[in-house]
Parts: sequence; structure tokens; C-alpha cells
Amino acid sequence: MLATKAYAAQSATQPLGPFEIERREPGADDVLLDIKYCGICHSDLHQARNEWKNSVYPMVPGHEIVGVVKQVGTNVKKFKAGDTVGIGCFVNSCRKCESCQHGEEQYCHHTAFTYNSNDNGVITHGGYSTQITVDQNYLLKVAADQPLDAVAPLLCAGITTYKPLKFWGAGPGKKVAVVGLGGLGHMAVKIAKAMGAEVTVLSRGEQKRDAAKKLGADDYVATEKAENLGKVAEKFDLVVDTVSAEHDIDAILGTIKIGGVMVLVGVPPEGVKFNAHNIISKRRIFAGSMIGGIVETQEMLDFCAKHNVVADVETIKVQEVNEAYERMEKGDVRYRFVIDCASIG
Ligand code: NAP
Ligand code: ZN
Ligand code: ZN
Repeated sequence: MLATKAYAAQSATQPLGPFEIERREPGADDVLLDIKYCGICHSDLHQARNEWKNSVYPMVPGHEIVGVVKQVGTNVKKFKAGDTVGIGCFVNSCRKCESCQHGEEQYCHHTAFTYNSNDNGVITHGGYSTQITVDQNYLLKVAADQPLDAVAPLLCAGITTYKPLKFWGAGPGKKVAVVGLGGLGHMAVKIAKAMGAEVTVLSRGEQKRDAAKKLGADDYVATEKAENLGKVAEKFDLVVDTVSAEHDIDAILGTIKIGGVMVLVGVPPEGVKFNAHNIISKRRIFAGSMIGGIVETQEMLDFCAKHNVVADVETIKVQEVNEAYERMEKGDVRYRFVIDCASIG
């Protein structure tokens, strides 16, 4: 086993701190990588604090991992030492079920998520660490000429927004709204624009109006005032809701066209509720979406490289992670914290 420095949550109420974990020695199909950067997703905070009631401790969060290959097993042909690579939200699945066969490994009943999960009896640990061993089939290629800290958030925030935008047809002639301008939200704006859609940001207050325009948004609505939402009533073909906390779903449904789609990607721990009338009376579709499969994640990385899309990041040392969680919870991040994993070692 490979002794590996990491940062872990020991319980739902303690701040994260230094911890040592063991990574497996790379087998024939494995790749060992040095982790360079790891993004901080709001899902890390939800799980570190047991907000989804499924946490196992100690927990090393992190599923927006970019690194450089250190060693490969004898069966590994796609990757070699020195390659720049990425790991997203899962590191294994059954490989046989319908979801796995159709490239939607995230919906497999046996998906091993990158942390707080079980991979063949071993509890997984994520990217707030210095190295990781992963099966080659769950590793992504990253273009080395991009700023790697700004690429890291694509591995979750990028694919989580790319997938429903593509699935529900965002593109020229389509009006897309993005609710919540955080890590996922700002990626949704950039990707929907790159797909050719007209994009409106729905954010709580006026604070992010100029920033949203800089990200490429065509319009901006501060949802705190009901009359502002009235101005975009029945306007959108597709709404991607990234909000991480309880909020007024009915108010957002009112902005969707007849037959339009609301996709939830945010996971408020309190759950969501809405008035059935608000989907029935306009034949609206209420949908969800979770990350994306390996093939589609690679497609998203290639799409973003082609369109020069990366995240706007604030790169921090791991010792600042608890403060970063506090700030993320207040919505005070433009738009993703990323850990420079050299600070862990
Ligand atoms: P984030 O950076 O914290 O952004 C969340 C945004 O939600 C905030 O910037 C804020 O936008 C808005 N918001 C926060 N609290 C709110 C409140 N009380 N009322 C209304 N709006 C509020 O988080 P993230 O990393 O983008 O993640 C967002 C959510 O997606 C989390 O629940 C996360 O677990 C989930 N997630 C889901 C998937 C998936 O596969 N479906 C993948 C990754 C993450 P404004 O300030 O602009 O209003
Ligand atoms: Zn995530
Ligand atoms: Zn499967």
C-alpha cells in the first residue's frame, strides 16, 4: 500500500484537517497519478457535514481531480507516465448492467463514487490528497496546455451541466435559464453559450449582474423580487436549476414555456416541493440529472478545450479549505475554489 497525505473530515461537526490514507499499489489495469489540483464542489460540503445523511468518516472529499500520471500497469495502453489526466465523481462500476453498457455508469447500482463510497469493499477517498490509484477505464484525458486548476472543476461542475444542456437540446434558437450562479451555474452559462443558446441567469440578488454578463449571459434576473420573474414569464425552453438550498420552485416554473423543461441538478438537503398545477397546466417537464458517464465526460472535456471553456477559480492551499466551505455556503465564491494539492504534502 502507498501511504498518502490527505485532508479529511473526521465527523460532521469537526473542521477538516490533516490525515493519512493508503492507496493501492497499481495493478495491471491501474494508473497511479500525482494529484495537482482538486476543485471544491458543494457536494463536498453537503457530505463532509452529513447533510445527505449518508456520510462515512473519516472522509477525504474531492471529485474534481486533475493530475499527472506517475505509473501505469502492464495492461494500460491509453495512458503513459507524464500524461495530464482527470478523475470525476466515480472510480468504478459493475461494467455489465444496462447503464454501464450504455455509457451511463453513474446510474449503475454499483457505482463506486470517488469518495464516501464503497469500491469492492474498500471505502473510497477523494482528491484532497496527493496521489490516487484508479482503473484506466475511469480516467479521463486532459489537454496539458490548459490552466490545470481551471480545468479541474470541469470534472464535476462541467459534466453535470453539459449533460442536461445537451440532452434537452440547448443550442441556437433555444432560450436557457440558469438558476444559481455558483460553481455549477457559471459552468452552465459558459457551456450553454458555447452551444449557441441564449442564456439568462436567475440569481437571488443584484450582486452578480455584471459578473454574469462577463461570463457571457445575455440577460439577468434578480429573483428576490417577484415582479422581476414576472418579466420572464413563460419565456424559457430549458431551465437548469443548480441551487444548493431550499428555494421557491413554483416561482421558477412560471418562467418556463408550454412543454418546456426544468432540470434539477442542485440537491437541497431539505428536498424540493412545488405545486402540481405549475407543471400540469403548461405540460411542463420536471427532470433531474446526475453528472455524466465516462465517454460523455471525455466529450465534454474535448468540447470545452475546443471552445476555450474553463472555470473561473480561486486557487487556495488546503489549509484554507474550512474557510472556503464557510464562504461557499454564503455564496461568496467566484466561482469555484480549487485546492493546490502541493500544499498537502
Ligand atoms: P455553489 O457553488 O455553492 O452554488 C450554489 C448556488 O446556489 C449559489 O451560488 C447561489 O446562487 C445559490 N444558492 C445558495 N443558497 C441559496 C438559497 N438559500 N436560496 C437560493 N439560492 C441559493 O454550489 P455548486 O457546487 O454549484 O453545487 C450546487 C448544487 O448542485 C449542490 O447542491 C450540489 O450538491 C449539487 N450537485 C449536483 C450534481 C449532480 O450530479 N446533479 C453534481 C454536482 C453538484 P446565487 O447567489 O446566484 O443565488
Ligand atoms: Zn461535484
Ligand atoms: Zn453497472
